[in-house]
Amino acid sequence: MMNAKKQDIDVVDEENINQDIFDRQKRLKGWDQEKISGSTALVVGAGATGNELVKNLVLMGLGRIYLIDFDFIDQSNLNRCVFFTQEDAKEEKFKAEVVSENAKKYGRTNVVPLVERIEDVDPAIYKECSVTASCLDNLEARLQLNSYSYYHEIPFVDSGIDGFQGSVFCTIPQVKGTPCLQCSMSSKDLDIMWQKFSCTGSEIDSKDGNTELKMANIITTTSIIGALQAQQVIKIILGIDSYLKSRSWNSYVGPPLHGRELRYDGTTNKFFFHEKMKNPSCWICGNQSNE
Ligand SMILES: [Zn+2]
Repeated sequence: MMNAKKQDIDVVDEENINQDIFDRQKRLKGWDQEKISGSTALVVGAGATGNELVKNLVLMGLGRIYLIDFDFIDQSNLNRCVFFTQEDAKEEKFKAEVVSENAKKYGRTNVVPLVERIEDVDPAIYKECSVTASCLDNLEARLQLNSYSYYHEIPFVDSGIDGFQGSVFCTIPQVKGTPCLQCSMSSKDLDIMWQKFSCTGSEIDSKDGNTELKMANIITTTSIIGALQAQQVIKIILGIDSYLKSRSWNSYVGPPLHGRELRYDGTTNKFFFHEKMKNPSCWICGNQSNE
């Protein structure tokens, strides 16, 4: 295990090391708490992964999160959503509003709930954001956020979960030549999407001849993927300025996941990379003049 040297640690006030909420993370070389606390993210989906992602970003002290979800809480959400209670489900409260209320208790992050669909979000909001993230259970909406984020030139962190499997992938418009989420969609993927298959593209089990539209979902996979996604959000916030200035990412926190997807398989206990290729004729990112 590596031990940080004292001179490497940015300790603000040695006498109050246990009083500063963020002291332990400020000890990470390359960390910039002011930058994180001054940044805004747009998160679409306040379900299981959204709960985990927002929880992590709130604990790390992100300044503001626009949280978009028009759905309300039901009992079946309660096996994997840290912010929801039985009472919330009984009253059918809106997911985004309940996450926002709970986040307030930490007093660090302003989680602004937007109970609406992605297409209804005020475009001005994108201009305030350093990064977007999707915590969605359908590919169509994920591709929609990919397209809005690319249009506004905002890095986008995507996730997909299906039972014991999950994936994380970043589309970073500023890194020319790297694929967006749409690039890797084959016509077969799109066919699958229109048939309302799962978010990782695998077929949902049919029961009694009817397609069951709900996927298997457990908190352990959701926690792993939500945490990986939060890590990408923070790495982008800490590194994008350096990348834009010198084409190199913050060397202490490393580059975010772009150009390849990180996949997790809980049945084999393995993480692995799935390489993605840019599609020159991609209708979202394929016509960039400076590739
Ligand atoms: Zn593309």
